[in-house]
Amino acid sequence: MTIFSDLGLSQKVLSAVQDAGYTEPTPIQEGAIPPALERRDVLGIAQTGTGKTASFVLPMLTLLEKGRARARMPRTLILEPTRELAAQVAENFEKYGKNHKLNVALLIGGVSFEEQNRKLERGADVLICTPGRLLDHFERGKLLLSGVEVLVIDEADRMLDMGFIPDIERIVKLIPFTRQTLFFSATMPPEIQKLADNFLQNAVRVEVSTRSSTAKTVTQQLVATGAKDYEKRAALRDLVRDQDELKNAIIFCNRKKDVADLFRSLDRHGFSAGALHGDMDQRSRMAMLHNFREGNLQLLVASDVAARGLDIPDVSHVFNFDVPIHAEDYVHRIGRTGRAGRSGKAFTLVTKREGKYVDAIEKLIDQKIEWLSGDLSSIAPAAPEEDKPKRGRKPRGGKESARGARKEPAAEEALTEVVAAVESSAATNGSAKDGTSGAAAKQKGPVSPAPAEPKPRRAANDDAGRSENGRGRNSGSRRGNRDDEATPIGFGDDIPAFMKIAARA
Ligand code: AMP
Repeated sequence: MTIFSDLGLSQKVLSAVQDAGYTEPTPIQEGAIPPALERRDVLGIAQTGTGKTASFVLPMLTLLEKGRARARMPRTLILEPTRELAAQVAENFEKYGKNHKLNVALLIGGVSFEEQNRKLERGADVLICTPGRLLDHFERGKLLLSGVEVLVIDEADRMLDMGFIPDIERIVKLIPFTRQTLFFSATMPPEIQKLADNFLQNAVRVEVSTRSSTAKTVTQQLVATGAKDYEKRAALRDLVRDQDELKNAIIFCNRKKDVADLFRSLDRHGFSAGALHGDMDQRSRMAMLHNFREGNLQLLVASDVAARGLDIPDVSHVFNFDVPIHAEDYVHRIGRTGRAGRSGKAFTLVTKREGKYVDAIEKLIDQKIEWLSGDLSSIAPAAPEEDKPKRGRKPRGGKESARGARKEPAAEEALTEVVAAVESSAATNGSAKDGTSGAAAKQKGPVSPAPAEPKPRRAANDDAGRSENGRGRNSGSRRGNRDDEATPIGFGDDIPAFMKIAARA
């Protein structure tokens, strides 16, 4: 068995590791730390949850003990795809670097430039950035990258998905060729391999997981449901209520609009819920995460990009409100539960149209996922047209209300949704609007600060212009836009309610 003191780390680092309570290095740490300390390039193929962050933070701390930072010339640079990941890495520096006096600067969007400038002026030993904000600082002339000795590119495959590769290539050109590069990715598609070949020299390759594995400790089940939003929401509520041992759960949606809609619906139905998506400002996202980690919120509705790589220990359940279109996203989502040998449960709602995505997932994970109660053939036909919810309108009197009185289960549910929607939109300053759960506030006390309403990307986010689902404007993306998968005709399923009202003679 390897122990930390075998790896060549400094005393100060070893003492912080001991205080963190770690007894032995994880495989990625065991593989990556010794070559990193020898100033070799490293290609680490590892997902979050494997101890990957410490595998570059610990050797960096040791190497940084020699030398001093100069104003506006950071000594090391870490690139992260999202603000949360960047903030998490900064926390790691705080934790493992508590015996060091290093200046760590976090350059992410949603925080004022002035504050970040002051940190750069003081001289940063460690600069942790999202690519957009780094380039903004560079273009303002506040930063020189010619002193960077160590470059870390983390979550490279997610960078690719988010369209950041052109930015990364630009940044790398600004850093001396003599640098040391530590490159991490959960998966190695050909584009990432090409990048790694360009950026790394004679790198040591450390691989600790394959992208197609789901933890054995996670029980996975599929739940067949009708395709209408209100049917899916009802199915989800039933599923959540049926769980005896639900401590907390992440509910994944494919689109950020659905994150907001589903969150509001859960809130109206009295669940303790919060939401996390890429358009929320930084403060709100951090507050939301904090509340979820602390147990003030039981359910967190999230998109893939917002939740990717977040270190939220001990999530008991994952619910997929939509089947992920890209099979590997399923593996990442499911990976939020069943961590560190704990047991977890993962449920995926499946509509008839999504059956093909389930096939792809089963192929990737090389495993059949069982149906909870009946497969897609068991789905009852959708409620008749007249029982569909009329969005944003109160049920009218006369014929329509008589039809509503028939009490089809789906129709009754739909009616509840409509009335709730009208009530909620009337209460413009309601808690549901700001992304925290009124129910949560009622049950567990205040969960503020509350997230803001979505804002235009460029204004709100440093790494703007990239879509939430990661298929950005200047993307070298391998996947294309999710919405391309099934091009709707006309309004598709989203026909405005007023167009469905029968014309009066
Ligand atoms: P990461 O993969 O970097 O997101 O780390 C996942 C979790 O593992 C974090 O909560 C770390 O605190 C924890 N961790 C990192 N290294 C070790 C270790 N050697 N032993 C136990 N836990 C660790």
